[in-house]
Amino acid sequence: MSKDAPNAIVTSRIEVAPGLMILRVVPDGWRLPDFSPGQFAVLGLPPEAPRCSLSDAEEPVPPAGRLIRRAYSIASSSLAREYLEFYITLVHSGTLTPRLYALRPGDRVWLGPKITGLFTLQEVPVDVDVVLVATGTGLAPYMSMLRTELTAAGGRRFAVLLGARHSWDLGYHAELATMQRLSPRFRYEATISRPAEEPVPWSGRTGYVTDLWWDSVLAESWGRRPSPADTHVFLCGNPAMVDDMVSVLAAEGFREHTRKQPGEVHIERYW
Ligand SMILES: Cc1cc2nc3c(=O)[nH]c(=O)nc-3n(C[C@H](O)[C@H](O)[C@H](O)COP(=O)(O)OP(=O)(O)OC[C@H]3O[C@@H](n4cnc5c(N)ncnc54)[C@H](O)[C@@H]3O)c2cc1C
Repeated sequence: MSKDAPNAIVTSRIEVAPGLMILRVVPDGWRLPDFSPGQFAVLGLPPEAPRCSLSDAEEPVPPAGRLIRRAYSIASSSLAREYLEFYITLVHSGTLTPRLYALRPGDRVWLGPKITGLFTLQEVPVDVDVVLVATGTGLAPYMSMLRTELTAAGGRRFAVLLGARHSWDLGYHAELATMQRLSPRFRYEATISRPAEEPVPWSGRTGYVTDLWWDSVLAESWGRRPSPADTHVFLCGNPAMVDDMVSVLAAEGFREHTRKQPGEVHIERYW
């Protein structure tokens, strides 16, 4: 079989909101490799795969014969590996996502056999708490971390600070709220930036995720404001949010983590 032949099957496709989808994929006849929560896999489809009706017309059409591939963070737990779950935004003018959106259960897709990435908890000291900051599908790697880590007894505390325009764009909201009720070491804070567009008044927090940080929402539940001495922060999602958070955190002494220079801020840039 050619190395570009579709080698996985879509088993589930859940449309969370227009343009936001949870996709589950199972390898066809091969075993998923081990992976660490936070890592990503690569999905691919050929140019001749149909585009969904919501997408823009494509100009120019990608050359035939070459698979279109993109990276996607894994949202499922690394413990239960019967499928890989992805949380994907439709980019209307994009090349791959309109094709992924046209997939239905039973359809075939290419799944890269390697899972990789450094956006993991592996280099975070065991005795510090972790704040996971996201907008939109930047939540995906955190779902994998939480679904894997929160099942163990004891251990560090986690918090998710999640931002979206509308309440219906807060994917995994119910699961995160349930995790918070079940685990004393998990805190979930969501904020929406366009409350005036809600059909039913939103009683939660409003503004941007940076506001959640400024407002010290964690200090209320953790009893202290996170500092570089006791907390690592993960950032994933909209590049403007990531840049804003990096500046806010730098002013409080947090430094970006790299392999060469350990720090407390871990960043995944989607684009
Ligand atoms: C390590 C890594 C992990 C990623 N994980 C995810 C994930 O879990 N979920 C996900 O939806 N995307 C994720 N992405 C982005 C993904 O790889 C694609 O870039 C995205 O799906 C667009 O592909 P496309 O071919 O449709 O658009 P393209 O034709 O490649 O157009 C790219 C343009 O689309 C826009 N864009 C890209 N990603 C997004 C996005 N998420 N939201 C809004 N606009 C975007 C940007 O303007 C970008 O320049 C990840 C990227 C990286 C590098």
